[in-house]
Amino acid sequence: MRVYLDANATYGPLAEIEHKVQSLLAQSYNPSSVHAEGQSARATIESARDELAKLIDAPKSSSRIVFCSGATEANNHVVHLPFLSPNGYGSEVNHIVTTALEHPCIIEPAKSIPGVKTCFVRPNNSFQITPEMITEHVSEDTKLVSIMLANNETGQIFDVASIASAVRAKNPKALIHCDAAQAVGKIPVSYTELGVDLLSISGHKFGALTGIGALVISDAVESKPYIAGGAQEHRWRSGTENVVGIGSIGLASKCHQLNGINIQRAMLAEKEMLLSVLSEISDIEHHIPTDISTLPNTINVRVHGIKADDLVVALDLAGVCISSGSACSSGKPLPSPVITAMGFSEEHAKETIRISTRGDHTDAEIEFAANQIKGAIERMRSKRAA
Ligand code: PLP
Repeated sequence: MRVYLDANATYGPLAEIEHKVQSLLAQSYNPSSVHAEGQSARATIESARDELAKLIDAPKSSSRIVFCSGATEANNHVVHLPFLSPNGYGSEVNHIVTTALEHPCIIEPAKSIPGVKTCFVRPNNSFQITPEMITEHVSEDTKLVSIMLANNETGQIFDVASIASAVRAKNPKALIHCDAAQAVGKIPVSYTELGVDLLSISGHKFGALTGIGALVISDAVESKPYIAGGAQEHRWRSGTENVVGIGSIGLASKCHQLNGINIQRAMLAEKEMLLSVLSEISDIEHHIPTDISTLPNTINVRVHGIKADDLVVALDLAGVCISSGSACSSGKPLPSPVITAMGFSEEHAKETIRISTRGDHTDAEIEFAANQIKGAIERMRSKRAA
């Protein structure tokens, strides 16, 4: 038996997409071509755009969805966006405000743009990022404020709507961005209610194929492509479109519109079953206090005395997929920057595991996984003690 509990790394294609892969492949023509094959590919793209817009409540009258390769590209585009004009880089005092909990595809570009000062806000003692903690750093030089909706490692959900409205009041010219890569498909996401200018989406985090994502952009934002050389995606993102990937986002969006609430309930039921078994194990420490909202599918805990990487390997051999920290940064033997940014030690971070449910397992499968997790921890601890 294999039980997949690593949905935050990638959800895996929804069954609906697996069933329709052949018909998606048949659409893989150039959507810019005028012939019927091209126009059929174009229709697939436009229908996917409509379905995604419905899922995330992005009005066609005031915003557009630009498909790209994923949230990494969308986030890099956003960080560079204020500076993508002649003399934009390093020509004046520029300022970005974000948090130290963001994904590396925000943190790294924000650190590397010439002439840009970036402020990385850290959570307070109660693990929150409040509007005041952000606006304190916003000035008239601030060009961009970027806050994630849900953290990939801890599952913590941030009050982006309140932060956006406080930032708008202080500097109406600053662009406001939200990285919603981990939120779409796990909680209801409304672009309109968040009140941001830009929203990043990752297809494979909610059941579409890997290598496809989108950036939602308010019509008030001046068009500045990050990848130039063609006029695709309303001139916002050049390159022949990934028709199969885009088609899969359309199907995943439709599926979450119809069944999202049930998927989210099932994720939570799996999480609760796992939490109840984890509570029987000694010396397990939860990072996020229970009064803070978290994703319905994410568990992030320190297992005292056990190296998370060793536990992940042991569980893989036992048929259970979990991860230590963020999959995007695994391979690097570094402690999770998210856990250390929350004020925990490096040793603490190295003993941290992430379990993220998908909501499609039977009770017997979850029970099997929970027992494997418990058994592996007990075996590794007794080996250490021997
Ligand atoms: N933003 C967050 C919060 C993520 O968790 C991830 C991936 O884990 C990304 C961005 C990057 O997404 P993608 O894999 O679509 O490039």
